[in-house]
Amino acid sequence: MKWLKAMSTSVNMEMLSKTSHGTSCPWKGRAAYYTIKTDKTEFKNSAWYYPAPFEKATNIKDYVAFWQYNDGNRAFLQALMARGTMTFKQGQEVLSTIFTIQEERETAPDQVTQEDFDSYISAAADKISPFDYEIRTTVHQFTKEKISAIVNATSDPITQMATTRTQEEMFFVRRMIDAMFETYNTRRREVMGVTSMQALERKITKGVSGARQSEGGEQGADKGVTNDQAEKCLNGLVAEGWFERSKEGWYTLSPRALMELQTWLVTEYNDEDADAEDWQRIKFCEACKGIMTVGRRCGDLDCNVRVHDICQEAFFNSRGEKKCPRCQTKWDGKLFVGQRAITSTDEYLKGKRRSGGARKSQVEVEVDEEEVADEDEDE
Ligand SMILES: [Zn+2]
Ligand SMILES: [Zn+2]
Repeated sequence: MKWLKAMSTSVNMEMLSKTSHGTSCPWKGRAAYYTIKTDKTEFKNSAWYYPAPFEKATNIKDYVAFWQYNDGNRAFLQALMARGTMTFKQGQEVLSTIFTIQEERETAPDQVTQEDFDSYISAAADKISPFDYEIRTTVHQFTKEKISAIVNATSDPITQMATTRTQEEMFFVRRMIDAMFETYNTRRREVMGVTSMQALERKITKGVSGARQSEGGEQGADKGVTNDQAEKCLNGLVAEGWFERSKEGWYTLSPRALMELQTWLVTEYNDEDADAEDWQRIKFCEACKGIMTVGRRCGDLDCNVRVHDICQEAFFNSRGEKKCPRCQTKWDGKLFVGQRAITSTDEYLKGKRRSGGARKSQVEVEVDEEEVADEDEDE
């Protein structure tokens, strides 16, 4: 931070425009903020002054403070780049370390405020925008946590994933996503996740199922991946924030991936010529209209109304009745989208009891394969 005298030659007031932002300091008084505009970029709320400082701080009257992009910002941006995404809680950890080093006094994570975090996020966003990156914010579908993610504004996510992966690995990733949204996302069971065991089955690692093999299909350059390569690749996808792995062992797309892949997923898996009431693979929450892979569904399996867990309460409170807004079926919230479409079933619970939890993956696989067969007969 740097203090410069306002209305003097050191400050070009034309570059500053007052904003509505304001903060209070117990000894300096109320601060007003400026946004600094240059031809190339603007820095929101990055200069401030105290129009009427308290008595103890009259020495800062007529001075404007400039917030400068410094080592702390650089360290923060690095941490954000390395993770791909950051929640406020993670940001508090990172910033408390930065503040501790910068101010040479211990700062605990809970002393880092939302305002501190937001200002570092916005400085990071300014810094990366010339390189076609943006920071977008999304809310996790079930933890409700706000997540800031670095996204590439120009290149598509598949290209980004591909830069650090071999062609075989990318085919594997593609088959994982196909499995999430095709194989394990059927009218009756919208799991939209793949268990770690399913991920290592030949049809996903090698891209060959019994059916496809008998057609004598040429696999081309795609030789598939070994189980080791598959596991390494999955760990990488989780570490980079593309996939999430639940403690029950399901891989799903992370909030960041959903945010970035949304358009692609709709183009790839939904039928654009379908009627409004047709079942679609990619679903949206009736309440917030956001993409949805985890939540509740209407009790009528033919109805397409889906609602996020976190949207459910407010949605039905505002409507005054717990009925599906489309088909009027009573909304009991007992039918799930996501892994609970499996874990809430009797088969799964029985299997878990029988095996003491150890063999549950086997049970899921059996359930799903039955399901796939049913669907095929329908068509
Ligand atoms: Zn919602
Ligand atoms: Zn309904």
